[in-house]
Amino acid sequence: LKDHPVANEPVLEYRAGSAERAALAAELQATAAVCEDVPLVIGDECVREGAPRLQPVPHHHATKIAKYYYASEKTIQRAICVATEAQVRWDRTPLPERVAIWERAVGLMAGEWRQKLNAATMLGQSKTAVQAEIDSAAELIDFFRFNVFFLKENAKYQPISENAQVTRNSMRFRGIDGFIAAISPFNFTAIGGNLAYTPALMGNGVVWKPSDTAVLSNWRIFNIMREAGLPPGVVNFVPADGPTFGRAITASPHLAGVNFTGSVPTFNWIWGAVAKNLDKYRNYPRLIGECGGKNYHFIHPTADVQSVIKGSIRSAFEYCGQKCSALSRMYVPKSLYEEIKAGLLSERDKLKVGDVSDFKTFMGAVIDDKAYDRITGYIKNAKKNPKNKILGGGEFDNSKGYFVQPTIIETTDPHDKLMTEEIFGPVLTIYPYEDADVLNALALVGSSTRFALTGAVFARDQDFLKLALEELKYTAGNFYINDKSTGSVVGQQPFGGGRMSGTNDKAGGPSYVLRWTSPQAIKETF
Ligand code: GLU
Repeated sequence: LKDHPVANEPVLEYRAGSAERAALAAELQATAAVCEDVPLVIGDECVREGAPRLQPVPHHHATKIAKYYYASEKTIQRAICVATEAQVRWDRTPLPERVAIWERAVGLMAGEWRQKLNAATMLGQSKTAVQAEIDSAAELIDFFRFNVFFLKENAKYQPISENAQVTRNSMRFRGIDGFIAAISPFNFTAIGGNLAYTPALMGNGVVWKPSDTAVLSNWRIFNIMREAGLPPGVVNFVPADGPTFGRAITASPHLAGVNFTGSVPTFNWIWGAVAKNLDKYRNYPRLIGECGGKNYHFIHPTADVQSVIKGSIRSAFEYCGQKCSALSRMYVPKSLYEEIKAGLLSERDKLKVGDVSDFKTFMGAVIDDKAYDRITGYIKNAKKNPKNKILGGGEFDNSKGYFVQPTIIETTDPHDKLMTEEIFGPVLTIYPYEDADVLNALALVGSSTRFALTGAVFARDQDFLKLALEELKYTAGNFYINDKSTGSVVGQQPFGGGRMSGTNDKAGGPSYVLRWTSPQAIKETF
């Protein structure tokens, strides 16, 4: 990126004794000490309705850091009206004014708000300092910076005017008249920022439903944007019950798009509801979604074993395997199996699981009781099935926090649920294959699941790599050669998958912003 006019935000390291570590530790204390009141915000009005709900700290669930409210159907409808009305005014705001707000926000995120965002992400979503920093600091800032850059780059394109004295052709990048519903996940604070504010940057009005389990960090983004000068009503902060929210937005004639990250069943429900209501809408709603994966590392007999071990441990277990891109199935040739297995187990044994406020912790707790039940359900089933063998981990305990130990399972069945279903937790399943069967094993990658988000191939054999690039072409939207499947960087590896992993609109890439504009071509005749 040396000659690139926009660069990625540097990632702070939080070494012992560093100023950033001291600042973060102070902010962690301050955040843990209060249960912050988080209202719904519709336009410039704060709303508190119904029974308050509490956001617990996943690794210490007795501690609550936020009190928030679910919007009723009526309140969601009001938010829709406010966003739809605000859109018209906001879309008239000259681009330099809009960009100035984003630039101010970037300054706040990189400066005085950085540790407040990190602390809320660490406590609310149980991320370690390093995992929070690459999310709620670096990636969030990168999304805001790069999307402004991409918007300006795209706007440079103007159509040909053959005889400019007589006619001038131009394009303007309008927002869409209506509202965009942003439905964001817990696992990346930055994704919440991107889902709600990229449509806003492009001139849209937004109704934002953050995840219950990321309310506090997302609320802090909302406050940064208010402080940066975003006019009220452009983005409305609307935590809500999922089905109530889904019904309200899809029933509105003003629905112009849904910016979604979450599960396949939810995204499928949205498509179905939109299909049923098509006669009502003024615009065809744009449905942009990222829906998870069943990400793989495919190991060839010529692979470098050490990088396989290091990369696989990080990809499977950083943030408890709750990145959409996390490794969860691994294909290993029998010739390397014993060495790789021994390496993975010895690295696994070193991982410290616990309170993320301790800077030595590698992995905190999984996000909530539902996740805990789902993940431990897979582990319990694996223990009962003679085709599967727990090699390491397999323990869990939710007495204080939702802790699941990093778990490595060997299977003799490449079609077992462990190899085909998204678990979204710290569970890595390995299928050892016969070296002579490498091509059949390779074919299993794409045929055994409908997901296609991320994947990696480890091999030194160049011919095999060429073959794998073709054979695995449609099995991942983000494909890595000799590197782990996680850790995409805005502007470097635009992120998103195909098949049932989503609409592959590549967050952090130049075309993403274009999904949130309805361009107008103008021919002016003199
Ligand atoms: N971009 C992240 C990564 O590659 C994952 C994003 C997600 O979980 O949706 O690690």
